[in-house]
Parts: sequence; C-alpha cells; structure tokens
Amino acid sequence: MNKHVAIAIDGPSGAGKSSLARRAAAHFGLIYVDTGAIYRCVGLAAHRMDVNTRDAEAVQRILPTLDIRMDYNDAGEQRMFLSDEDVSSDIRLPEISICASNVSAHPAVRAFLLEMQRKMARENSVIMDGRDIGTVVLPDADLKIYLTASAGARAHRRMLELQNKGINASFEDVLKDIELRDYQDTHRAEAPLRRAEDAVLLDTTEIGFDESFELLCRTIEERLGLKA
Ligand code: C5P
Repeated sequence: MNKHVAIAIDGPSGAGKSSLARRAAAHFGLIYVDTGAIYRCVGLAAHRMDVNTRDAEAVQRILPTLDIRMDYNDAGEQRMFLSDEDVSSDIRLPEISICASNVSAHPAVRAFLLEMQRKMARENSVIMDGRDIGTVVLPDADLKIYLTASAGARAHRRMLELQNKGINASFEDVLKDIELRDYQDTHRAEAPLRRAEDAVLLDTTEIGFDESFELLCRTIEERLGLKA
C-alpha cells in the first residue's frame, strides 16, 4: 500500500499533461485530478450566460450561482457537472478553451476554485495537473513536475487529438490558439504559469507518448519510491 502522496504536474497547453498524468495515476493507483476541467466549467458557464469572459466583474458576479461538481465514473474517468448536467464533452469544445483561459486570469475565479482543488488533494492521493499546482495550489507537493514541449509539437498533437474526436481544426488555428493561451497563461498577474523552483523539468518535444510515460514513471519511482 503506497503512502498518501500529492504529485503536481504543471506546464503549457498541449504538453500532454492530462494523458500522461491520467495513465500514471492508473499505473500507481492514484486519483488523477484535471484542474483545467474546472476552469473550463467556469468558462462554459460564462459563455452560455453570454457573459464577457474578459470582464472580471461580470465573471465574478456569476460565481455564486455556479454549482460545479467533479465525480469519477466506474472507469475512473473524471466527469464534470454543472448544476447536475454532465458537461464533460462540452467543456472540450475549442471555443471554450479560450473562455477558460480568459476566466482563469481573474483572481476571484482562482480563489473560488482553490479550496475545491486542495480538498481533493487532502482527501486522496493525487496526481493533479494544471498551471499553478506546484506554485500555488499544492506548494508542499511531494513531487513537482514541469512538463513542456515546443509550441509546434504541442499544436501538432492537439490537432490530431481534435481530429480523432471528429473536430476539424487546421494546424495554423490550433497553433494560434496554443500561442495565445501560452501568452495569457504566462503573463497574467495572478498565479501565472511558471516552473516552480523545485520542479523537475520534463521536455517531451523530441519524444513520443510511450517514452514520455516511461520517463514520468521513472521520475515518480525514483523520487517518491512509489511502486506500480
Ligand atoms: O489544461 P486546460 O487546457 O484544460 O486548461 C484550460 C485553461 O484553464 C488553461 O488555458 C488555463 O488558462 C486555465 N488553467 C489555469 N490553472 C490551472 C488549470 C487550468 O489557469 N490550474
């Protein structure tokens, strides 16, 4: 039986954080928490309510009306609910990505979601991925990883992922979206994306998924002594 652990994985959009973290969580028997999905719920709700997602005050006003819940199905997949509606697919729509990035820049939104994330880590052994997990949400995480890849490599992977889901997107559009989100996520005043000083850097530009997964598992085994 492994001890209680918290592993933080941060990095830019499309670095493969969620696929790698999900598989590593299954491998080590940990709960995978995708925090981007929570920001996406706020982005989706604002979009549906016709709220300008760049307007901090307007977004703050809708926060008390939101009922966001996270659950896991029998296959161990994280599902997101907005007032009991399963919005796990809707939050992945390309137009919601930028809404999520916009709302995530507002301090009130980050404060609103902070406790929900910390509670998950208190009550479970987790691999949590996001942008500020190692720096803000879980500064005392047992292991911090900063997972990255070049913008071109990330755009290429994201495009294939969208195409697999039947969503047609050109490389140029996906790259533009990734570069815009990179800029917003690293330049915002509140909890910007940055590598924590004590985070292990994993760059997957030149390596495929399986090799990245092995590298991640090796890092977890060596640093934390966890066994599959
Ligand atoms: O990870 P994902 O791309 O689904 O996240 C959607 C957006 O949510 C990101 O562009 C980022 O702006 C924001 N986010 C964040 N902090 C987190 C996770 C996601 O600001 N911990």
